[in-house]
Amino acid sequence: MTGPYNTGESMDDIHLRWRHTALITGWAAVILGLGHVACSGDAPERIDVGVGDEGAEVDADVGTSNNTDLIGDTKGDYLDVEDVSVMADVNASSEPDDAGDSDVSGDVSPDVGPEQEAGFPFDWYCYEAVDGQVSFDFEIATSTSSYTVIPFSLDEQGWIDPQKIATPSGATIDFYGDNFFQLYGLEYPEIQWINAITIPAAPKFEDQLESGNHTMEVHTEVDEVCYYLIETSGMATEIDFNIYFVGLDDIGLNAQTAETHDDFQSVLSSFEQMYEQVGLSLGEIRYVELAQPVVDAYRVIHDEWDIYELLAHSTYPGADVDSALSVNLFITERFVYEPVGLSMGIPGIPGYHASLVSGVALTGEYIGDNPDDNLFTAVAMAHEVGHFLGLFHTSEADGQSHDNLDDTPECYDFDQIWDCPDGQNVMFPFIHYDTTELSSDQGSVLHVNPLTK
Ligand SMILES: [Zn+2]
Repeated sequence: MTGPYNTGESMDDIHLRWRHTALITGWAAVILGLGHVACSGDAPERIDVGVGDEGAEVDADVGTSNNTDLIGDTKGDYLDVEDVSVMADVNASSEPDDAGDSDVSGDVSPDVGPEQEAGFPFDWYCYEAVDGQVSFDFEIATSTSSYTVIPFSLDEQGWIDPQKIATPSGATIDFYGDNFFQLYGLEYPEIQWINAITIPAAPKFEDQLESGNHTMEVHTEVDEVCYYLIETSGMATEIDFNIYFVGLDDIGLNAQTAETHDDFQSVLSSFEQMYEQVGLSLGEIRYVELAQPVVDAYRVIHDEWDIYELLAHSTYPGADVDSALSVNLFITERFVYEPVGLSMGIPGIPGYHASLVSGVALTGEYIGDNPDDNLFTAVAMAHEVGHFLGLFHTSEADGQSHDNLDDTPECYDFDQIWDCPDGQNVMFPFIHYDTTELSSDQGSVLHVNPLTK
């Protein structure tokens, strides 16, 4: 496809431009879009309950992306906020066109749908929509310290729109009120068919955690909405990863060599140092080999559709819940469009593999260049994994919106970017070697996510 981020520039142009930015300004830009979808409908009525229903066949070629959580130097000017609106104004209705994408052949198109459900280890329940609405009950145990409820449309395409959760005490968690930010993923056509709602989403919302019977209301355009639920308890200490290398043999990096590859281990070590600030370390690391045709098709990322399709080549690492609760990280030979990484959602969908939304992708082009570039790769990984685990930017690049955390400093004037008080934070919207800090509240968000355990 020819996307708005595909500049047609050569890799050297991008690389030099990034170098220019890194050396002259010291920053690489991250651009993030926010928004929501409209919805309508009347009072819900529960009908049909099923467990383990067969999923529908899915065509990965749906919509086109306007996911603008992009890291990279845009037009060489990190202060040009105009770029944000340009990036956000992608035509969301046009079909992707692979005609200009000679690297991607139909032979390696991801085959999602029933295959992925075959490894899906969670109990899931489906309800027929009535007048565009579904409501369902779920029970939260007294021992639960956080939970994530994940409604999704069975065809993996039609939009779902969570409205609210009625709690046992009679309170309402309102996704068109204080909790609106939890609908972030619904902005994007590729991921608006599924949404992960974690409660409590931030320390200031900890009163929203209750035990007992809850009722969630969801609006939708599809006939059937399903959900699954993940409860967590106790203090998380680790994050498990499934790491896929896509065309990095030139630097000797693949599933067989990764454990002894000095530069890549340096990346992981730097990542771990950042996350250890909030009590999290690397857990099980699985290095997963991809079939050669997949590697050849996606080693060079041209646009976000390459990333969606690549993520759909992830597989369930096992048949159990524990192995499913792991982060897929795809590291490719290089990117030839604006960003250096991309996370599917804030937060991403936990435990759901083999789909367009299943993980995080990064360019591997800086690994091994020098120690600073290994660190830069680690910072990019920390930032994208942060998104996938529920962290928003501390400040958006327009200086107008900020995360929901009380202890992260906020920047209001990106014309004075060097004075931004959050300029050292992992989730600052511009990353650099020095954006390595995580706050206590950011740690709390990470700890309630079921992908930390
Ligand atoms: Zn970001």
